[in-house]
Amino acid sequence: MDTQKGKIGVTTENIFPVIKKFLYSDHEIFLRELVSNAVDATQKLRTLSSFGEFKGELGDMKVKVSVDADAGTLTVSDHGIGMTAEDIDKYINQIAFSGAEEFLEKYKDNANAIIGHFGLGFYSAFMVAKKVEIRSLSYKEGAEAVRWECDGSPEFTMEKTDKAERGTDIILHIDDENKNFLQQSEIDSLLRKYCRFLPVPVVSGKEQEWKDGKMVDTDRDKVVNDTEPTWTKKPADLTDEDYRNFYHQLYPGQEDPLFWIHLNVDYPFTLTGVLFFPKIKNNFEVNKNRIQLYCNQVYVTDSVEGVVPDFMMLLQGVIDSPDIPLNVSRSYLQSDTAVKKISGYITKKVASRLEEIFKADRQDFENKWDDIRIFIQYGMLTDEKFCEAAMKFCLVKDTEGKFYTLEEYRTLIEGQQTDKDGNVVYLYTTDRVAQYAYIHAATEKGYDVLVMDGQLDSHFIGMLESKIEKSRFVRVDSDVVENLIPKSDRKAADLTPLQRDMMSTLFKCQIPKVEKAEFIVSFEALNADANPVMITQNEYMRRMKDMAAMQ
Ligand code: ADP
Ligand code: MG
Repeated sequence: MDTQKGKIGVTTENIFPVIKKFLYSDHEIFLRELVSNAVDATQKLRTLSSFGEFKGELGDMKVKVSVDADAGTLTVSDHGIGMTAEDIDKYINQIAFSGAEEFLEKYKDNANAIIGHFGLGFYSAFMVAKKVEIRSLSYKEGAEAVRWECDGSPEFTMEKTDKAERGTDIILHIDDENKNFLQQSEIDSLLRKYCRFLPVPVVSGKEQEWKDGKMVDTDRDKVVNDTEPTWTKKPADLTDEDYRNFYHQLYPGQEDPLFWIHLNVDYPFTLTGVLFFPKIKNNFEVNKNRIQLYCNQVYVTDSVEGVVPDFMMLLQGVIDSPDIPLNVSRSYLQSDTAVKKISGYITKKVASRLEEIFKADRQDFENKWDDIRIFIQYGMLTDEKFCEAAMKFCLVKDTEGKFYTLEEYRTLIEGQQTDKDGNVVYLYTTDRVAQYAYIHAATEKGYDVLVMDGQLDSHFIGMLESKIEKSRFVRVDSDVVENLIPKSDRKAADLTPLQRDMMSTLFKCQIPKVEKAEFIVSFEALNADANPVMITQNEYMRRMKDMAAMQ
């Protein structure tokens, strides 16, 4: 073949400055793009081989990323299908440019916001390189090795070369602003981020070992990825230990997860993954955004907003789907029907798994309840479908530490805690210490009191009240409780000396007088020794005050 010179097929005057400018904020993704191309080329050859269309030896199929700081180059090599001069013309010279051009045309107004998630593929190399070379030998019989070179202008050179091994080397001549990509440590961390679970072994740098008191390079290539991550395996082949190990691999230094869910669906969309329930500490905002999104084992992002419902962001783990359109803006993602389906599927799956765990081992579920309640409550408050499903396994806990489902609890209190309008009255405490006397008084009467002291409980109570027919939630220190308690005939004269003392002190403090409308002091129906006096608060007034405080 003679040396060819030609002009890259693009109408835009020069697309390289555009690529550099727009991709600047996320330019490290060039490595993901080049390594995933190498992986694709390797997988393609494997496929051809399995169909008998390639009869040669596959040989060593590792992808290699090598740094040559002295030469100023970074090379990604594979032993995949390779490219002929025609292939390069078709796939590199034409398609990519028109693809990029089309893309920029379509999104020119907000390219900056979305381009980070859009792989411009091969051409993203020009974000960090002043010159890019391709050296390739196709798997096709009688193919000639070819070298392509482009220096960041729309001009390229293509010529015959002497590459003997099948496959492709992509050689980046790193530009001055991006010298950091010539450090092995930088490349290691990028490979760790983007290529950790690629399906083909990727090697970069050398394994190290201790020798004479320090770490030294061995001559063994260092494999940077796990080609068969847990989510790609069958659940039946995995033990609890495997899931836990995978969790710690993803999130080193964390406590064991409480539960996990293995996702696996291939119709109407493809999705696999493992989601973990971490111990959610009270301040749950900081725990968001820890699910990692992959596309065919290539890391894409850990910002899954829009892909999973908001409350699922409290979970951790991996979702892998080629069906999530990643080259679009977040607002588009939220309205995309495929994504909606995916999000709906995950919700359903998480709910049914929780129900399954609840049914299989209720004791275990109860033991973990305090750690997962915030997740379940948040889900129920924000997602109608999840709420419906979770009504079956959502638990409430009373002051004795007993757990009930909502249905069980209703049955428990129905007969004995009813107000004059026939509503079933759910008593609850928000502070077991401060409201101790009221709890004591209520339980003495044979009433049950729920503990509702969580971060979301005040919202949750409102939600339950609207969901459960004829229900009324009343704080244990409200006057409603007083009305449930049958009044005894005690008169002031029957008060104990202690109660009388308290009465006069309270009057001195003007409590009944000043806040007459809001507080009711009562001495009746109480165990005079343990609780000589109670001050209850008008439920309606209290709620008004709480609401005013929230606004
Ligand atoms: P995409 O990967 O989305 O197709 P790219 O710009 O990354 O877009 O690559 C364009 C095309 O160039 C690929 O589809 C493939 O045909 C070819 N190509 C790129 N890198 C390689 C490689 N290492 N080996 C073989 N073909 C490659
Ligand atoms: Mg690509």
